[in-house]
Amino acid sequence: MLIDSHAHLQWASFDADREKVITRAREANVKNIVNIGYDLDGSEKAVELAEKYEGLYATVGIHPHNADRFNEKILETLRSISENPKVVAIGEIGLDYYRNLSSKDAQQKAFETQLILAQELKLPVVIHDRDAHAEVLKTLSKFKGKTNGVMHCFSGSPEIAEQCIRMDYCVSFAGPVTFPNAYKLHETAKTIALDKILIETDCPWLAPQNMRGKRNEPAFLPFTAEKVAILRGISLDELAEATTKNAKQLFHFL
Ligand SMILES: [Zn+2]
Ligand SMILES: [Zn+2]
Repeated sequence: MLIDSHAHLQWASFDADREKVITRAREANVKNIVNIGYDLDGSEKAVELAEKYEGLYATVGIHPHNADRFNEKILETLRSISENPKVVAIGEIGLDYYRNLSSKDAQQKAFETQLILAQELKLPVVIHDRDAHAEVLKTLSKFKGKTNGVMHCFSGSPEIAEQCIRMDYCVSFAGPVTFPNAYKLHETAKTIALDKILIETDCPWLAPQNMRGKRNEPAFLPFTAEKVAILRGISLDELAEATTKNAKQLFHFL
């Protein structure tokens, strides 16, 4: 079995066929799906889905894109919805200097405030880092020993992966690891410790190579898993077993 450690099935593009998407995931042996919050509405919807479907879990948090709208009231709402037992992490939080949809100051403030929340709630965090490796690592180093979590859709070098692992973070691979020219990412997937790897779809985005251009969904996760297994020279079963164990350990679900 596989665990999709990062999905957004609450997204509107699944409104028409969400039930079928979940069924296809189960048929593809993707037994657990963690739906990730990105704003307050997305977090609440992730929790609703987790309550409705067995095997689905949720995280709650404000994405850096939405950091400009982050405030005290949202923070308190996140705190209260995180009491639901199917909420397994705070996220996705972090920095996005690629699109810069919110100001850098607002992104940094929302990031740190939610790291403190995670620390208080003793929940792991799901980190979004785009074109901000140095700043994300600097921020996480302030919380070293106080938070742990996963670097989602990891896009960095083996050296950056090592730095994340030293900070007690796992590294999660998404569709881009299947792209033929993703040499640096292939090197990272090949070399990092097996007990630090997670896999994800980040659906509806980032479909793997042979589904490129389509809406992504959890049933496509085996393509990403297979690519990572091939890169490491291990069987798909071995990769599936390790990543499942790692995700369960991180998110504390059974
Ligand atoms: Zn993200
Ligand atoms: Zn995401």
